[in-house]
Amino acid sequence: MKAVFYLFVFFSLLFTFSCSQSHTINAQKWMQQNNKVKVLSTTEMINDLVSAVGGEHVDCLTLIFGGLDPHSYELVKGDDEKFNRADIVFSNGLGLEHGACLVNTIQNHQNSVALGNEIKKIFPDKILTTDGAIDPHIWMDVSLWSNIIDPIAMSLSKFDPDHKEYYLKNAKNLKDKMKVAHAEIFNLMQSIPSDKRYLVTSHDAFYYFARAYLADSCDEANWEDRFCAPEGLAPDNQMSSLNIINIIDHLKKYNIKVLFPESNVSRDSIRKIIFAGKKKALDLKISEDPLYGDAMEVIETISGENYIKMMKHNAEVICRHIKEN
Ligand SMILES: [Zn+2]
Repeated sequence: MKAVFYLFVFFSLLFTFSCSQSHTINAQKWMQQNNKVKVLSTTEMINDLVSAVGGEHVDCLTLIFGGLDPHSYELVKGDDEKFNRADIVFSNGLGLEHGACLVNTIQNHQNSVALGNEIKKIFPDKILTTDGAIDPHIWMDVSLWSNIIDPIAMSLSKFDPDHKEYYLKNAKNLKDKMKVAHAEIFNLMQSIPSDKRYLVTSHDAFYYFARAYLADSCDEANWEDRFCAPEGLAPDNQMSSLNIINIIDHLKKYNIKVLFPESNVSRDSIRKIIFAGKKKALDLKISEDPLYGDAMEVIETISGENYIKMMKHNAEVICRHIKEN
């Protein structure tokens, strides 16, 4: 058993190292002059859409890459140079990036757009709060997230007016794709019987997903009950024994059988819930397929497809495991 554990640690470290190596190579290339608009995005969910809108005229780089946690990310050696090189910086905003130096650097950049804040200006009623704090995980609703496309296209067009038509055409194509993806995810989730359509993951990243896809309709009373997580809006929150009791009560109330880990969050809290559930004679399982919450893997090389693939992956995993259990 120990050998398996050490092998797991070895391959995890190897994966992290190879991600970091390839990011360094990409960053070095990105720093070079090539007459393209240099765009730095804080997360891959933003970068993927920027890349689809910007196409061949934009050179994109993600600051918080791989499985790094965007909530707790702080500037590291070399990041200042990336900000200095960037023509435009796109961030999620809404409090997602909250490392003090990172927030200052984002705000001090001369051409910086917090895309979530732009959505909040237009649709303030669509932004969720949990315990008084703004929930920044807006990418979990494809329809809501597609509202960042216009601010991206506008920023690129303003900086590079010669290619405005090109950016607007790509923006329209991407919005059409995301509209279709939203409907597909909605239909897939609604194929789960309503009394089984309840989700439990590691941290509070899925409230937007729950409202958009798990509720019977957008005005369902108590739709928040469709989702529950042991950790708070940031995955570094400590879980109290009261949290465990509340979650066990929730699992019993809605007859929930399967819990979903997230790709970049420790499974400790989920395991604690399983352990506590067993003591209460609950038959709980952990999904062997993790969900992508705050981080997503680069699955395809087609711009704009990675984000959509990530969302579809989450929906398919949730649907399959809930239906099987
Ligand atoms: Zn999060």
